[in-house]
Amino acid sequence: MRTYSDDEIVDVVVVGTGAGGAPLLAEMARRGLSAVALEAGRNFELDDFTPDETEAVRINWMSERLSGGDDPTAFGPNNSGIGVGGSTLHWGAFAPRPDRRDLRLRTETGEGRDWPLDPEELLRYVARVESDIGVSGPVPYPWDPDRAYAYKAPGRNGSADIVARGATALGIRTADAPAAVLTRARLQPAYGERGACQSCGACHQGCRFGAKATTATTYLPAAVSYGAEIRAQSMVHGIELDARGRVAAVLYRRDGVERRQLCRTLVLAAGGIETPRLLLHTGLANSSGQVGRNFLAHGATQVWGRFDESVRGHRGYPSSLISEDMLRPADADFAGGYLMQSLGVMPLTYATTLARGGGLWGRELVERTLDARMYAGIGINGDCLPSEANRLELVDELDEWGIPRARIDFTAGPNEKALDTHATRTMEDIMRAAGASDTIVLARTAHTVGTCRMSADPADGVVDADGRSHDIPNLWISDNSVFPSALAANPAPTIMAMSLRTADRMLVSAG
Ligand SMILES: Cc1cc2nc3c(=O)[nH]c(=O)nc-3n(C[C@H](O)[C@H](O)[C@H](O)COP(=O)(O)OP(=O)(O)OC[C@H]3O[C@@H](n4cnc5c(N)ncnc54)[C@H](O)[C@@H]3O)c2cc1C
Ligand code: SF4
Repeated sequence: MRTYSDDEIVDVVVVGTGAGGAPLLAEMARRGLSAVALEAGRNFELDDFTPDETEAVRINWMSERLSGGDDPTAFGPNNSGIGVGGSTLHWGAFAPRPDRRDLRLRTETGEGRDWPLDPEELLRYVARVESDIGVSGPVPYPWDPDRAYAYKAPGRNGSADIVARGATALGIRTADAPAAVLTRARLQPAYGERGACQSCGACHQGCRFGAKATTATTYLPAAVSYGAEIRAQSMVHGIELDARGRVAAVLYRRDGVERRQLCRTLVLAAGGIETPRLLLHTGLANSSGQVGRNFLAHGATQVWGRFDESVRGHRGYPSSLISEDMLRPADADFAGGYLMQSLGVMPLTYATTLARGGGLWGRELVERTLDARMYAGIGINGDCLPSEANRLELVDELDEWGIPRARIDFTAGPNEKALDTHATRTMEDIMRAAGASDTIVLARTAHTVGTCRMSADPADGVVDADGRSHDIPNLWISDNSVFPSALAANPAPTIMAMSLRTADRMLVSAG
C-alpha cells in the first residue's frame, strides 16, 4: 500500500471506510488523486470473524451513545460498525433498491421531503454498485421486471419458506430477496477470490467466506490498488481551517499519538452519528443549525410465530425473502410504506430483542429463548418522516477520545405509528395464515440516518444536492447522514450509490 506523510498535502482525506467512504475513496484514487482514509477501527481478515455473538461485537461501535425520546433507538450491535469496512462488516446485505416514489414523497403525499436529485440518476448509480460488489436476486424481479441480477439468490432459510406460505395464502407477493451475497465464487478485482455463500447464518457477525460483500472486500482493495492509503485505528477528533475558512488539516489520534494530516479536501463518511458529532464538536458547517437535526430511524418491528416444525432460524442467509407489496398499501392511512423481509437470527440477538422489544424478562425470557428454534420471523423496513424533535446533541460527558458523547432523541410520529400498526397487523396475519400457533411482536427501529441532510436551500440543510457543505467549499459529506428522508429501502446500496455520485460531483467541481 502506498503511504503518505502527515505533512504532505493530500488531495483528499476521507474519514470512515464504510458504505459512504469506500466507493468515493476508490473513485478518487482511480482518477489519480492522492487519497488517504482515516478509519477509527482496526483491519480485519476473514479469519478474524467468528459466529460467536459475544466476540463479534468487535466489529460494532460499542462506545456509549445516549438514547432518549419516547422510542429510544438501540445502539451497540443494532447500531453501526467500527473497522476497515465500517458497518458493511456486520450488515445483513439485504439490498433492495430505493423506490422512485419514496424519493418524491413530498410531491406525492405532501408529507416528508423530496430528495434534491434525479431519481433515475441515483438508480443508475445503484445498478453500478450492484455490478461492483455482486448482488444476487430473482430474474425477473416481480416489482421491476426491467432489472436483472447477476447471481441467483441464496437458498431460503426456514423463516422464508413459512413467510412465503403465509403471504401467498393472503394474496401478498413474495420473492427471493436482492442480497449482496455471492452464490458462486467471483474474482473480485484487486482483492482475489470471494467464495460462495455457505448458508452459515452469521452475516451480522462478519462473513468468513467473503461471500457477503463488504467494502473491505470490494471498494477498499480497489482504492489501494489505485494508490490510496487506508490508515486504520486513526480516530479523527478535529478539523483545522485556514485563514479563508477552508479545511486545511485533519486532527486525529493513532496509537496514542496526536497527528495532523494536511489536505486539500475533506470528506466526512463517519456515519449518521459520528459525522454530526464531529461537526458539533468542532462547531463547523452548521450555519443552518441543521447539524444533528431530523435523525431518522427505520421502523423495524418484527413478528415471530411459533410452529410445530423446527425452523432453525439461525441457519441460512437470514433475509432471504422480500415483499414490496406494502410500499403503497391500498388501505394505508399514512404516507410512504414498508418492505417486508423474512428473518433469521442468532440466539443472543434474539434474546436481546425479546427483552428490549418484547419486554420479556425472567422465566418467560429464558423459556422463549430456549424455544427459539421453533419460531419463524418476519420484519419490516419502514419509512420515517423527518421531525425537528428527533435530533442528536452533545452532552457534557466525554468519551475515551475526549470528545463529548452524543445523545440521540427519537420519538415515532403519527405517520410512523400508523405505518407500524398496519405492518404489525399484516405480519401477524401472515404468520397466522402460515399456521403459527402463537405470535410475539418485537418493537424495533434500525439504522442511523439523517442528521446532516442535503438541501437545495442552504438555510434548510447541511450539504447541497452534491454533498458539499453549504458553508465550507472543500468539505463534503458522503454517508447516511445526508439522507433527507429515510426511504423504505434499507440504506446501504443507496449510500454506496450516493458515494459514487458525490465522487463524480467532486471531480467535476475540481475541474
Ligand atoms: C445490524 C445491522 C444490520 C444491517 N443490515 C443492513 C442490510 O441488510 N442492508 C442495508 O442496506 N443496510 C443494513 N444496515 C445499515 C448499513 O450497514 C449502514 O446504513 C451503512 O453501512 C452506513 O454507512 P455509512 O458509510 O454511513 O457508515 P458506516 O458504514 O458505519 O461507516 C462509518 C465508518 O466511519 C468510522 N468512523 C466513525 N467516526 C470516525 C472518526 N471520528 N474518525 C475515524 N473514523 C471514524 C467508523 O469506524 C466506520 O468504519 C445494517 C445495520 C445494522 C446495524
Ligand atoms: S450466510 Fe452466507 S453471506 Fe452470510 S455469513 Fe454465512 S456464508 Fe457469508
